Amino acid sequence: MSLKTGDEYVESIKSLGLKANLMGQKTGNLPENPLVEPSIRAVAATYDCAHHAETKPLFRVRSTISGEEINRFTHLHQSTEDLMNKVIMQRYCGNVTACCFQRCVGLDAANAVFSVTYECDREHGTDYHQRFRDYWSRIQLEDLVVDGAMTDPKGDRGKRPKDQTDPDLFLRVVERKPDGVVVRGAKFHQTGMLNSHEIIVMPTLNMRSGEEDWAICFAIPANAQGIRFIYGRQTSDTRKLEGLKLDVGNPTFGGQEVMTVFEDVFVPEERIFLNGEVNHSGLLVERFAAYHRQSYGGCKVGVGDVLIGAAALIARMNGVEKASHIRDKIVEMIHLNETMYACGIACSARGHQTLAGNYEIDMLLANVCKLNVTRFPYELARLATDIAGGLLGTMPSAKDLEDDVVGPYIKKYLAAADGVDVVDRMKVMRLIENLVAGAGSVAYLIESMHGAGPPMAQRIMIARQADLESKINLVKEILKID
Ligand code: SF4
Ligand code: FE
Repeated sequence: MSLKTGDEYVESIKSLGLKANLMGQKTGNLPENPLVEPSIRAVAATYDCAHHAETKPLFRVRSTISGEEINRFTHLHQSTEDLMNKVIMQRYCGNVTACCFQRCVGLDAANAVFSVTYECDREHGTDYHQRFRDYWSRIQLEDLVVDGAMTDPKGDRGKRPKDQTDPDLFLRVVERKPDGVVVRGAKFHQTGMLNSHEIIVMPTLNMRSGEEDWAICFAIPANAQGIRFIYGRQTSDTRKLEGLKLDVGNPTFGGQEVMTVFEDVFVPEERIFLNGEVNHSGLLVERFAAYHRQSYGGCKVGVGDVLIGAAALIARMNGVEKASHIRDKIVEMIHLNETMYACGIACSARGHQTLAGNYEIDMLLANVCKLNVTRFPYELARLATDIAGGLLGTMPSAKDLEDDVVGPYIKKYLAAADGVDVVDRMKVMRLIENLVAGAGSVAYLIESMHGAGPPMAQRIMIARQADLESKINLVKEILKID
């Protein structure tokens, strides 16, 4: 057993020697790069929580594969309680980091691949499930971070993968060898990719007959030959290069998104978990997406708690804490945040066992959860912006605060309620700015809209799952209509 500490985890990522194209340069030693470091610190927090006395019971769980104690971020859910504990854990991590802590995608991918490989084997006589068990047992025992890579570039959205002018716009098998396959393509929006030891690649949509080369699922080390990383920009990201923690908003933590290119990467047979079984590709997409839609009912709520706290604190600092309209806005923020949490818990509590033995969330409720997440954080951000006031968009820099001439003016004129330290007030303003319009808004807002699929993807699933006919029958029954 090796439950790593945060620092041990950071060292293990360093040892992979990953390089990325970052702001025009091929860059190594990423964990120490000021643009990347906050994101790896956020992942490290998920390791440290497994060692703190008060959070240990939540973050540690026993593996059903090896019997060893593992981090819940690598767990195959064994009950509805496990599903709920996942959401509770994610909320906690959001509370601590106020950002995307990046480790959930691998967990969600693993639980989906675990059940889909089992069902695929039963139908096709393949041996993917045992392969995956062996693979995932190592991930659990070595306490690794796995990136779950699903989103393809998709090219012309009106065309199928095989009909694209460039067939690589959906990641595919370009060569079959006796001991594995060679793949080519790209995966977009890869959360925490450069903070991961391993990558699980999945198809992005339900493949059809004739699209076998695109129906591929496999795992590969992040430092495998032929993989290229291109770092994603975030709003105000270069503030991290200026050395002024105050202006960054979130002084310690941040998120990370990466575009990843697979240029003829060889995948050995034992790391392949789906290979041409098109009828199981859609199932994999659906399950992974649903687990990740559940996840947002935890992580975004945890970040929402911080935003609510910041809004309440800035109201206090501004001297308007007791104004009835401010109190009402804070209550509205809490209501929206807890509604998302209620959905995350509900889809977990109503979960069920899969044929493979692990637990899956209620699909309808997980999609309702995520559809709320595409809206409510925006409303929370609007209310926080309203409460904070216009200074949120006009406040001078920390450099000017240090200036001998203008610094005293800033301190004099940014004074608010008696006894409030001006710099503390600026810190709270910057944290709100980070979440509603800065680097943190990438995960808190844009990802809330598009992560785990955009609103229309949830609407399609809701329409499919809701059994509208049974509701019509209720009316017929009440009214005695044939
Ligand atoms: Fe986890 Fe949330 Fe980040 Fe997704 S957005 S990886 S669920 S913290
Ligand atoms: Fe996500």
